Amino acid sequence: MQAPLVEDRVRLALDRLRLPHMAEVLDRVCQEATRGEVSYLEFLDELLREETRARYERNVVVKMRLARLPYHKTMADFDHSFQPSIDKKQVAELLTLRFLEGAENVVLLGPPGVGKTHIAVALALETIRRGYTAYFVTMQQMVDYLSEGTESVTRRMSIFLRPKLLVIDEVGYLPLDRRAANWFFELVSRRYERGSVVLTSNKSFGDWTSLFPDVAIASAILDRLLHHSTTINIRGGESYRLKEKRRAGLLQRAEPSSN
Ligand code: ADP
Ligand code: MG
Repeated sequence: MQAPLVEDRVRLALDRLRLPHMAEVLDRVCQEATRGEVSYLEFLDELLREETRARYERNVVVKMRLARLPYHKTMADFDHSFQPSIDKKQVAELLTLRFLEGAENVVLLGPPGVGKTHIAVALALETIRRGYTAYFVTMQQMVDYLSEGTESVTRRMSIFLRPKLLVIDEVGYLPLDRRAANWFFELVSRRYERGSVVLTSNKSFGDWTSLFPDVAIASAILDRLLHHSTTINIRGGESYRLKEKRRAGLLQRAEPSSN
């Protein structure tokens, strides 16, 4: 009658110590240990590994949700042959996430549909997979968020300062007024040498001055953003979106009866 008592005690302890996954796999790991003649240490190792793995997975799920990514795609989903202007080695280097350690930035430039957001998302996913936090926002969303509400801008800005990696997507679709430009400058300054920014833009750096109320603020922002950074310039190339649309169009023509 002693075994159930011990098991009860173990389960109670696991519950109190908040080790729910260990409780879930306890029966199985015990049975395997009995069958497999494993040492006490190996048994403990297996139990702890289970709990660690479950915690990591839960953690990733939570971080994924908090990151607000527009879609989940990795570089494994990226067709390099379609976009030969991208240096594969450069992207592979970015995926090592060494740039995060040095709080360096990544700027992805190019026309619509060439994979800028896709690469930014892939970097954010890798960041989360490694246990760090990421946050995805478009420039428009960021400006809207900072303009709303009653809290001070400084408080609202903290959401963009906290994550290890901040993705700012679609810089350049809207010109920024003085207020928004100042916020953007403040954000870039406060993350400068502290936390990485991945930024995408349809405008080349030369055209950035037209996005801001004056040249001084444009160059102050670019100065900090580019000091420690990698730029990936995706030149020309066809829009992957249009390619997909065209293929869908061809398929529809090939199947006249389907509707
Ligand atoms: P943008 O450069 O405008 O940000 P996206 O990165 O969002 O474009 O790409 C548009 C769509 O096409 C996305 O669904 C993306 O996953 C896909 N895509 C773009 N380039 C490629 C590529 N080379 N291989 C696979 N999918 C791609
Ligand atoms: Mg995009």
